[in-house]
Amino acid sequence: MYRPNVMKKHICNDWFTGLSFASYMRRDLNKEDLDLFRELADAYLQYEQSEPVVRPIAPADLYQHLDLSLPEESVERSLFVKALRDLIMHTPRTSSRRFFNQLFGGRKSESVLGELLSVLLNNSMYTYKVAGPMVGVEKVIIREVCRLIDYPEYADGTFAAGGSLTNLMAMIMARDAKDPDCRHRGVQADLVIYTSAESHYSIPKNASFIGIGRHQVRYISVDNKGRMLASDLREQIERSIEEGMRPCLVNATSGTTVLGAFDPIDEIAEVSQAYGCWLHVDGAYCGGVFISDEYRHLIQGVSKADSFSFNAHKMMNASLVCSIIVTKHPNQLYDSFANEANYLFQTEVDEMNLGKISLQCGRRNDALKVWTLWKAIGRKGLSDMVSKQFYLADVARDYVRNHPDYTLHNDDTSVSVCFSYKDIDPESLCSQLNEQGILLVSHGSFRDQHFIRLVTINAGNSAEDILAFFGALEAFVSHGYLPK
Ligand SMILES: *Cc1c(COP(=O)(O)O)cnc(C)c1O
Repeated sequence: MYRPNVMKKHICNDWFTGLSFASYMRRDLNKEDLDLFRELADAYLQYEQSEPVVRPIAPADLYQHLDLSLPEESVERSLFVKALRDLIMHTPRTSSRRFFNQLFGGRKSESVLGELLSVLLNNSMYTYKVAGPMVGVEKVIIREVCRLIDYPEYADGTFAAGGSLTNLMAMIMARDAKDPDCRHRGVQADLVIYTSAESHYSIPKNASFIGIGRHQVRYISVDNKGRMLASDLREQIERSIEEGMRPCLVNATSGTTVLGAFDPIDEIAEVSQAYGCWLHVDGAYCGGVFISDEYRHLIQGVSKADSFSFNAHKMMNASLVCSIIVTKHPNQLYDSFANEANYLFQTEVDEMNLGKISLQCGRRNDALKVWTLWKAIGRKGLSDMVSKQFYLADVARDYVRNHPDYTLHNDDTSVSVCFSYKDIDPESLCSQLNEQGILLVSHGSFRDQHFIRLVTINAGNSAEDILAFFGALEAFVSHGYLPK
């Protein structure tokens, strides 16, 4: 029989008689596991150095190769440790100096520290009651971002689990601003979204989520460097109006996914404003340049945007995932995302109850890992990281330009260096480099050109690492590559 008073007394007795605070805590996070973490981390980091690329397990062999099965009874500790060790050692090493595959990479120790502490503290960011000073941590970051992009004092923002979701939040705000009643009755107006042909796929995907529909997305043409043409934007908006539709949102991209190109925000803002559209700047990839004195000019005009988002897990090298959105219309954040919930929001200060402006209910603390990083190395340290990323891209471009077997396919203001080597098919070269455990790098295309995309986002890399990339690629083509 359940007797609450007795239970309570039992816990209190336990507390006071003999058990130290630390040993009490060890009942749910024990020393054995912490020691194991340390041991696995040491081993993993060593392998990351000596074997920066793991040979992938073919998907068809996965369950034979690793013991991923879930047992009925607890397993012996040694078997558990072995299964865990095998699992992590076979996982692709995304922080190594040979990983150039995606738009994130490397590891900032200060950020990892914050992330580990977030896991330990396990707060949820929805209320001040539960997150306490972590609310301040998030607010301070939002405020600094707003200040650095010249947003007004009253601007506000929040974090979400990735750039696709901060884009979603921007798109919901744009929709609600144009058609406020849609929050109750569903979308009534014929709303249209404009984005460049080179923008991220989350834009059409989100268009379907928010009831506007994929067919209501207009793809604006780009110039030969992959930047949106403001003239085509104007034409397409006018065409929509002639067809009786309502222009709603213009999405500009700072760092397009393939080429790393920057749309001309100033020109786009002028068109967007002329037709009363919400302007969002998707800076998931390279919006982080706002932190840099040297490269901030690439997002010139961002202060005119209604909302701006960037991924701290890309240019800031923070741990995955960490995406931030800010807006000049804090009321729209509330209007679109607040819902009354008396069981949750029980304190008075709404401003500190971040759940009122977020997409989710429970939300993990993604702010601490940015705060620890920023606090430790300062804005200038972050700015130096951005300079380093562009420097590494310059090293790669110089190499490509000075070696006749290579062709460069994109612009100088990018941390994605797109190139081809001899007449080799980029797709088959990239997959063989991965299969043989040599390099993790990806390929892409623009217009009719197909190329390898080397991403120099890992600020922990050196010029030697970039040159080693080309050395490894060339050696592989000479000795290991099997032409298709
Ligand atoms: C990476 C990226 C996104 C998506 O971000 P996730 O965090 O992967 O969801 C959106 N837009 C651009 C331009 C990106 O490069």
